Amino acid sequence: MSAALDLTESERARILAKTARFAPPPAALADGRRDLVGLTRPELAAELAAIGEAPFRAKQLWHWIYHQGATDFARMSTIARPLQQKLAAHFVIGRPDVAAEQTSADESRKFLFRFRDGQEAETVYIPDRQEDRGAVCISSQVGCTLACRFCHTGTQALVRNLGAAEIVGQFMAARDAYGEWPSPKGETPRLLSTIVLMGMGEPLYNYENVARAMTIVMDNEGIALSRRRITLSTSGVVPMMDRAGAELGVNLAVSLHAVTDELRDELVPLNRKYPIADLIAACRRYPGASNARRITFEYVMLAGINDSPAEARALVKLIAGLPAKVNLIPFNPWPGSPYATSTPAAIARFAGIVMDAGYAAPVRTPRGRDILAACGQLRTESRRAAPALQTTSSPT
Ligand code: SAH
Ligand code: SF4
Repeated sequence: MSAALDLTESERARILAKTARFAPPPAALADGRRDLVGLTRPELAAELAAIGEAPFRAKQLWHWIYHQGATDFARMSTIARPLQQKLAAHFVIGRPDVAAEQTSADESRKFLFRFRDGQEAETVYIPDRQEDRGAVCISSQVGCTLACRFCHTGTQALVRNLGAAEIVGQFMAARDAYGEWPSPKGETPRLLSTIVLMGMGEPLYNYENVARAMTIVMDNEGIALSRRRITLSTSGVVPMMDRAGAELGVNLAVSLHAVTDELRDELVPLNRKYPIADLIAACRRYPGASNARRITFEYVMLAGINDSPAEARALVKLIAGLPAKVNLIPFNPWPGSPYATSTPAAIARFAGIVMDAGYAAPVRTPRGRDILAACGQLRTESRRAAPALQTTSSPT
């Protein structure tokens, strides 16, 4: 094995070891009952075996939990009453509590979910008004270890990783709110049709839990969301990118934001560890990247910082030959943020240069700005009572 590969392997081990220090609490209630959400199929079978039940029950329960969305064993009509009662004595089918929710004037809806230990994270549903579909923006951590200068989440230290149950639970609880059960089959339209891992936290610093959650979401006998409908956004945790590609095969989005290491070191401090050349090399290796499945480069538009025509030209050079598109995100200000949003003219000029080079360069329309639900605006005051969202309200 080459020295470079050894290094990647040890980096990966280091990242996973650090992940363990911020582990979620055990998925059990105070009364000892275990939450079945978040278990893999073999783990579910093992839990059932431990109470003397046959393996086929795991398949049955999986269907009720992830296809039907049942949270109550008494509703499981294919299971006889005595077994329903036995299951209820040992297990629960959990959901995070909705601590608060707000609906934006543009109909995007932000949920503040509270987990069993009182920690909270935000999830945003962004409906597509033209079509009956929408994206669910999911959090992977409470806070973030990274401190990108333009990101509100980055001003909050990492409190802990979210568990697989908490990650998949955000999606399931959002589906509860829209009554979208049972899981629509095949090409049947879905209101909650895509998942973007673009909420709070860095998903590749919580890889194991994110991977479990996405494996559950993609399982064909449950929620059955195709991997093409899932996008994982990373600030550039290079050693974990190959693994995510090989094991999950979901779409990749990379938060680039700058074309020189000097500027990216400042905006995305993780760049000091994994500089642009390494990041782009990891993108070139990303399994499954093709014209049909392009890598998205996210680029936040900061007035006078990274939005010049010269930078647009440098960007195009950097990604030359990659199946890619560039998502231009007008900076979403938050109270006390140090930057201003690029002017529409600067954004149009930048987009024009990228498009002339043959790349799609959509400008992401900010959604939910009025409720601080847009990209990079999510932040919770950990361990304090929901300060930003005191009440459940639906301003329209
Ligand atoms: N940690 C991951 C995913 C969460 S952030 C990552 O950094 O990629 C999701 C996207 O929102 C990233 O591209 C991030 O750079 C961007 N973002 C963060 N703060 C923002 C802000 N204030 N305005 C616009 N986009 C922002
Ligand atoms: Fe963390 Fe992503 Fe925000 Fe950077 S942009 S601080 S990686 S959530």
